[in-house]
Amino acid sequence: MRETSAQRREVKLFIDGEYVPSAANKTFPVHNPATQEIIADVHEATREDVDRACQAARRAFETGPWRTMTIKERCAKVRRMAEIIMERQEELARLEALDVGKPYPVAFEFEIPRAAHNLKFFADFVEQHGSETYPMEEAYLNYTRYEPVGVAALITPWNLPFMLTTWKLGPCLAAGNTAVIKPAEPTPLTVSLLGEIAKEAGIPDGVVNIVQGFGPGSTGEFMTTHPEVDLISFTGETKTGKAIMKNGADTLKRVSFELGGKAANIVFEDADLEKAIPTSIRAAFLNSGQVCLAGSRILIQRSIFDEFVERFRSAASMLKVGDPQDSSTNMGPLVSEEHYLKVTSYINIAEAEHSQLVFGGKRPELPHYLSNGYYLEPTIYIQENPQARICQEEIFGPIVTLIPFDTEEEALQIANNTEYGLNAVVWTESLQRAHRVAHKVRAGTVWVNCWFVRDLRAPFGGFKKSGIGREGGHHSLEFFTEAKTVCLALS
Ligand code: NAD
Repeated sequence: MRETSAQRREVKLFIDGEYVPSAANKTFPVHNPATQEIIADVHEATREDVDRACQAARRAFETGPWRTMTIKERCAKVRRMAEIIMERQEELARLEALDVGKPYPVAFEFEIPRAAHNLKFFADFVEQHGSETYPMEEAYLNYTRYEPVGVAALITPWNLPFMLTTWKLGPCLAAGNTAVIKPAEPTPLTVSLLGEIAKEAGIPDGVVNIVQGFGPGSTGEFMTTHPEVDLISFTGETKTGKAIMKNGADTLKRVSFELGGKAANIVFEDADLEKAIPTSIRAAFLNSGQVCLAGSRILIQRSIFDEFVERFRSAASMLKVGDPQDSSTNMGPLVSEEHYLKVTSYINIAEAEHSQLVFGGKRPELPHYLSNGYYLEPTIYIQENPQARICQEEIFGPIVTLIPFDTEEEALQIANNTEYGLNAVVWTESLQRAHRVAHKVRAGTVWVNCWFVRDLRAPFGGFKKSGIGREGGHHSLEFFTEAKTVCLALS
């Protein structure tokens, strides 16, 4: 089934257990990025709507049963949400493909199951989580309690809407907090359904609220300045993180930020190219390159540079760009017109910087019904100057830059010479070099001979301007809880 505008939807706000229109009854359109057809009219939350959502979350936190029910009972409800998500896997994956423009199989096989796993993982994790005790001789005993913080604002970007929202919602709910969620304005559809999923799972009204709208001067800003919001978990652009930090400062909100990236994917001459090339293709073009962890700068040792370029170009030329709902599609469109214009502006920038075009750079030839879609071919440049803008700035699209290097020191120097530090990838068959380079790269995650795999207990986050704090396992729990010491006299 191809999802089309025939199913044009009305997306309301979810406040205190009910879907409601915005107080101003104001809506904005959402487009299918593959065709530009309008697929939804979304209610934009006003300041008054955000206030109602935050007050509902506060009431549910202070007086509702959520915080005081047993951990077992609470986690069972979070786990039930995960089961319902898997029961609705196909519907959610179709909607995600329609809204974001990502290939349906990517949503169906990876993102929706991972979203369910995020909830289940944190429900299990919280249930099994212990705490420290510190006996002081025979006289006193200190022990720690991890208590929920309060009302959390969860603000997410458009590239992995459902997956990233559940990544925050899992630890938030399992730890006993309540939430006001805001998905990104171009991609509200799947996250909007979390309201009915929470309700069906038996989560009390007011615990999960979902508001829709824009960032500055709109819903996002109303949330981050609201006095009832205690903490903000945000994933998005570095510049938005700065604005949120300023806006949250007056009410001293706790923040966790997952921000932009410009990962170096370093290929040494002893790399196994049979593995490095297909994985580097995925790292560059998965989700049309709209992945914070994308390996958008490939650093290649000069002795294998020409061979790598030719094999990488040939693999990129095999990618099928097309309809996101078609299961044979490898790459869909970019998410919106605004983003398409931003990404394609880098083609002019690359030319002005004398980058050498290896492949792509144009709209692909596509069937007529996709002729208005925001499509760009997988695009590959060679650039010798690592200071060039295409080597420094986060493009967040299917544009990858190949940069030659001679020595390990030079590779590290180039890899570390950006304002970002989210992740890096290293390809080598030398164990010593793998560890050496992994230790010296200034990034939150370093993948050696792989990409995009991670145990959810491991810390995830960025060095430098790629973030503040870590998510994953007990790192998420630390953010979503207040640690309390109880010191007891034993005699
Ligand atoms: P964005 O920062 O423009 O928007 C993200 C969210 O913040 C949206 O919901 C938006 O409406 C909201 N927002 C914008 N301005 C706001 C403000 N002033 N106050 C409150 N909310 C505001 O990001 P995007 O374009 O949606 O997503 C792409 C970015 O996300 C890229 O930089 C990418 O690297 C980053 N990202 C990072 C990770 C990670 O884990 N580090 C994961 C995915 C995406």
